[in-house]
Amino acid sequence: MANVRLEGIKRRFNNVSAIEDISFEVPDGQFWVLVGPSGCGKSTVLRTIAGLESATEGNLYIGDVLVNNIPARHRDVAMVFQNYALYPHMTVAENIAFGLQMRKVEAKIIRERVQVVAQSLALEHLLDRKPKQLSGGQQQRVALGRAIARQPQVFLLDEPLSNLDAQLRDDTRVELKQLHQKLGITTIYVTHDQTEAMTLGDRIVVLERGRIQQIGAPGSIYAKP
Ligand code: ADP
Ligand code: ADP
Repeated sequence: MANVRLEGIKRRFNNVSAIEDISFEVPDGQFWVLVGPSGCGKSTVLRTIAGLESATEGNLYIGDVLVNNIPARHRDVAMVFQNYALYPHMTVAENIAFGLQMRKVEAKIIRERVQVVAQSLALEHLLDRKPKQLSGGQQQRVALGRAIARQPQVFLLDEPLSNLDAQLRDDTRVELKQLHQKLGITTIYVTHDQTEAMTLGDRIVVLERGRIQQIGAPGSIYAKP
């Protein structure tokens, strides 16, 4: 586990600013939520932390390590996207194991990790299936499983529930919360959904046009109905 610190992060694309002067620090083990209108820079912040974008300016620390020049594959960060990109030709077990195999983890440890992950996400009975034999909610659980199997220090989630129907979204949100309580991985989560932000977030960061507008506990961001 590790804290994540952004100091004056900017990202421009051809002189157009996507994010401007973003600074915040997520303490070790907390769950922070990024919200704000479409195009305000939420994905760019996550992608920069993951190393999928490089900051134009600013410093990014994971734990005590300055990671500006550390490529994505060497950052101890796992990211889950809205459109859970599972490998269609692999089984659920192989999908979950994939990141570990890439890192040359011992086969015995991989088998154990796959079991533990499958158990925490109720995927045990689905391990031999291919993604197209799964529902959307099951596929998204596999995508989460693949990310946590690596036991990353930091977990980044970009609207992971927004392709699910309402009931599944509720169920998966509750599972995510339990998973975080169990594993305590430092998490940064992008959503448009107020219920997700309120129920999952230790803190909420409100972005607007690439800048931080507000940071606070859920109760201070959203007025009580
Ligand atoms: P959000 O996730 O909040 O919808 P994004 O981080 O995707 O916002 O985008 C922030 C801004 O940066 C938008 O104006 C978007 O068009 C722009 N942007 C993001 N990625 C790129 C890119 N690869 N090239 C050019 N502009 C980009
Ligand atoms: P999101 O739904 O997360 O906001 P988008 O649909 O805005 O994502 O963007 C999807 C991908 O396209 C991202 O990789 C983003 O960096 C890139 N992108 C976003 N806006 C632009 C843009 N104006 N020009 C080029 N690429 C962009």
